[in-house]
Amino acid sequence: MRKHHSSINARNKKTPGFIITGDGISDDFYSLLQAQNIRLKRVLFLADKKTFQIGGDKVIKTLRAKKILVIKKSISKSDIKTVERVEQLIRKIKPDGLIGFGGGKVLDVAKICAGKNNIKFISIPTILSNDGIASPVSVITDKHGIPISHLTRPPYGIIIDYSIIKKAPLRHLRAGVGDLISNLSAVYDCRLGFRVKKEKISPEILALAEAGAKRLLEIKHKNIKSKEFLECLCDGLLKSGLAMCLVGSSRPSSGSEHKISHSLDYLFPPRRTLHGEQVGIATIFTMALQKNRFLSAVRRLCRKINFPQKISYLGISENDFVNIVLNAKKIRPERYTILETKKLNKKEIKDIIRKLNL
Ligand SMILES: [Zn+2]
Repeated sequence: MRKHHSSINARNKKTPGFIITGDGISDDFYSLLQAQNIRLKRVLFLADKKTFQIGGDKVIKTLRAKKILVIKKSISKSDIKTVERVEQLIRKIKPDGLIGFGGGKVLDVAKICAGKNNIKFISIPTILSNDGIASPVSVITDKHGIPISHLTRPPYGIIIDYSIIKKAPLRHLRAGVGDLISNLSAVYDCRLGFRVKKEKISPEILALAEAGAKRLLEIKHKNIKSKEFLECLCDGLLKSGLAMCLVGSSRPSSGSEHKISHSLDYLFPPRRTLHGEQVGIATIFTMALQKNRFLSAVRRLCRKINFPQKISYLGISENDFVNIVLNAKKIRPERYTILETKKLNKKEIKDIIRKLNL
């Protein structure tokens, strides 16, 4: 009986079983799986129109050459309907593996479908726009167009090929920087909660969550697509995801700045700005509230890589932002952050915005 239980635990892994990064490694995808002792016979392969072209089809070809049955499914959205459609397909074809090749949308759908149906999910990100690559969180938009976070299993395996990531639009990589630096604000809030006994995440996990962001602040390169920058970004986003896996929630990577971004999602859907852009701008605001010692370094980094630092970039007015911040306390009220400590009024929020020149 006991033995049986332990095998269930092994299947319901809390952290990814393997992470492999390198240049051009997806060309020999089959060997990578073999080296991990993964033998698949029927694979559901999720990608979108573009990611099939930039490498997805090539991977499929190598799998089919080894007599693996691969069913292709192209998806364009990460909403509930798409999840239902993919789940229907899973019930029909009963795959023993799910491969996701794409950006956040493709991987979020793949992650939640694999988790719900207990299938091995191998993730191949084509962009690094947020820290969802190794996390147990999947973001799916509901019928009102509002993105909702669901807790599920992290990918079984993650393969990051820099030669593919380098082709990603600069804007998406920049958003990845925004999501990573937001951890400095989130971890500050966790420590704040820890001091008033409303949080119990271990200091080691918090150090893991902020490690990547701290390293990024030190980087000399301006060019996001340089090897050094990309590796640093990727490493930081993976660590952020692993910290979430270890805690079993997004808490170490999501504090007041994510509350503000979620509040923006709720009040002004559908969003055209990326999650990482939203949390990045919100981070400047929350770090100022926190008197966070990394604020000036964060702003220097933003200037260096042309990260947007204006509220107007979000397509909203200053008054809208004030309301978003006031509403943010209603988002995940159990999470204690600087917003709960400060209890700001309209004028105070406006004063901060002007002082920061947001
Ligand atoms: Zn995030």
